[in-house]
Amino acid sequence: MAERRARAIGAFSGGLDGIVAARLLAEIGVDVSLATFSSPFFQAGPGRLGAEQLGLPWREIDMTAVLMGILADPPSGFGSNMNPCIDCHAAMLAILGRLLPAEGFDFVFTGEVLGQRPMSQNRHSLVRVARLSGLGDRLLRPLSAKLLEPVLPEREGLVDRSLLLGISGRGRSPQISFARERGLSYPQSGGGCLLTDPGYSRRLRVLMDGELLSPRSARLIRFGRVFALPGGAVGVLGRDEADNNELEALSEGRFLRLRDRPGPSAVLLGDPSAAPVLAGLVAFHAKLPTGSTALVLEGEDAEHAVTVPAPGDVRPLLVCIEEP
Ligand code: SF4
Repeated sequence: MAERRARAIGAFSGGLDGIVAARLLAEIGVDVSLATFSSPFFQAGPGRLGAEQLGLPWREIDMTAVLMGILADPPSGFGSNMNPCIDCHAAMLAILGRLLPAEGFDFVFTGEVLGQRPMSQNRHSLVRVARLSGLGDRLLRPLSAKLLEPVLPEREGLVDRSLLLGISGRGRSPQISFARERGLSYPQSGGGCLLTDPGYSRRLRVLMDGELLSPRSARLIRFGRVFALPGGAVGVLGRDEADNNELEALSEGRFLRLRDRPGPSAVLLGDPSAAPVLAGLVAFHAKLPTGSTALVLEGEDAEHAVTVPAPGDVRPLLVCIEEP
């Protein structure tokens, strides 16, 4: 081993594999720092908790702008939903790669396991991501290192390859044993990226088809029911008080609501001429009688007098009833 202590930064979602990878490197003498990425589609909270447990330095990196660009045209395509995993992952690692010279890190690491995910963690994808990110062999996967070609920090003796692991496949017994032996807790489920969720992905596709994708619209469709309106507009309508509060907070002051009684709040994205249709949906979901007239406010300065639509007119507009 080299006398100098190696310095590494890890892409860390806070899941079991990342916890094991970070702890393993720390135990074998690497100076470990962690970074968790955030965007409208995934949050940094689990990463922060995991880093606190490990007692390691941690930072959040907002990659919203980068991810918006990738979603518009992912060079490596989408996974089974709207998840551009190869390019998203490569972008994360490229961001960390820029920190190597800037902050004196020797390499980047991840908790990836060879063969754990058939599309994004097969041998070909691991090599491809290393190349696309620009990291090349400054990218170490400690959990599967013994099954992969030695990378630069191993060859230079900064990390002792014999102390790394040779885990592959979907089973998680070795990682669970590692964590239990050290009294480490870990979240039961995966990272919770909305881009892998079928219902959210359908909503997102409607936004993109209407050229309405933005950080704000991506956040808005996390709440309530989503409707495809005439002219490519999209309406988002709260199902309960919690949804209404979230939508109003994201509405920039321009949400629709009944003038004279409680009911759902709604936000219009796109063509303003679709507002009366969304106003009708607000009245419908307030359970007003079909065919009656309702007054719906839009922001501070607009009011729509609308006829409450029939169920048969409402259902075709609903994009997806699956919850994100
Ligand atoms: S699951 Fe989501 S956050 Fe993870 S690589 Fe895929 S798109 Fe990116």
